Amino acid sequence: MNKNSLKLLLISSPVGPLGPGLTGGVELTLRNVASDLVRRGHQVTIVATQGSTGWGMPLVEISGTVQTSAQTQARDTPIIIPPASVLAGFWDYARQVQFDYDLIVNFAYDWLPFYVTPFFSRPVAHLVSMGSISEAMDEIIEQVVMAFPGTVAVHSHAQAATFTFGDRCRCLGNGIDLSCYNFCPEPEPWLAWMGRISPEKGLEDAVAASHKTGIPLKIMGVLQNQDYWQQILRDYPKAPIDYLGFFSTSELQEHLRQCRGLLMTPRWVEAFGNVAIEALACGVPVIAYRRGGPAEIVEEGKTGFLVEPDSVAGLVEAINGLDRINRYTCRQQAEAKYSTQAMCDRVEQWLYTILMEWEKRT
Ligand code: UDP
Repeated sequence: MNKNSLKLLLISSPVGPLGPGLTGGVELTLRNVASDLVRRGHQVTIVATQGSTGWGMPLVEISGTVQTSAQTQARDTPIIIPPASVLAGFWDYARQVQFDYDLIVNFAYDWLPFYVTPFFSRPVAHLVSMGSISEAMDEIIEQVVMAFPGTVAVHSHAQAATFTFGDRCRCLGNGIDLSCYNFCPEPEPWLAWMGRISPEKGLEDAVAASHKTGIPLKIMGVLQNQDYWQQILRDYPKAPIDYLGFFSTSELQEHLRQCRGLLMTPRWVEAFGNVAIEALACGVPVIAYRRGGPAEIVEEGKTGFLVEPDSVAGLVEAINGLDRINRYTCRQQAEAKYSTQAMCDRVEQWLYTILMEWEKRT
């Protein structure tokens, strides 16, 4: 193994192409990790669904039927792989080219990559982007965790704790390219909410808090579930909300940085919550439910507030305290803890360790 330059095949999520936000936080994570690995001299190739952007990096696009997002399904839903599956295409491609690479890194929360891991002749690392939401997934991830110790990583301790085998997962946190986010010392009297508009994200609570306080809420993100969004509009016809659409990172930060605070109201255990560190990077305090990744990111009273989960009254109280948060402290916290560089130091170390263990085994 040449410690200075690894050949890495990074495999994306099969729920949609990279670019329009359908893969949620995986998109930003993959982009930042890949870019920083290239900057460190590694050779990176990204495998993703047809129509993806590779942000100037080598990209192999595979066509086929996309997977349904796991978060829309029940815990006991069987694993479904559609005909002409793009996911199967990713892993068939990986199998064919595996000997051109030192290591394959899976970014998808899907059953197949875990299942095929023992059949590969090169090591496969898995970065799991969700907590426990599926029995079949828990089972197959655990099998890989036990058979290939150290190869499965997560983003937060809270995410790890949702799995019975969580203490055997490596916790990598996450990081962003801070130069893409500009600090704003003097915000407008607005709040922000960002993410996929889908029931597990709990947008309705943020809308309820905006309605109660009368403070306008700027909403940004992919409209993943139309029925859910229409229901929110029916339930809160007078709320001062504004859906701005889905933005690129540069457009997103232009709107986000002008806001007084970001509301994070997930119903599920958010594995990390990229939007929290994006807000901090702009100097925007974060108000989040005290569960999942955001509870590990927000420092109470310093970079925002943690609120009792599912309590709109708690959100309102926190909103009233936003003036007590120093926006410079938020930016400083992002710089100290959430740079791409800090994240990739951990990723690189993880990959080297996997390769060292692999060489011992073979
Ligand atoms: N995002 C974006 N444009 C938007 C709104 C959100 O690119 O208009 C991105 C944001 O940068 C973040 C992702 O959507 O990386 C949401 O990721 P998060 O980890 O918060 O949640 P997930 O979707 O993975 O559950």
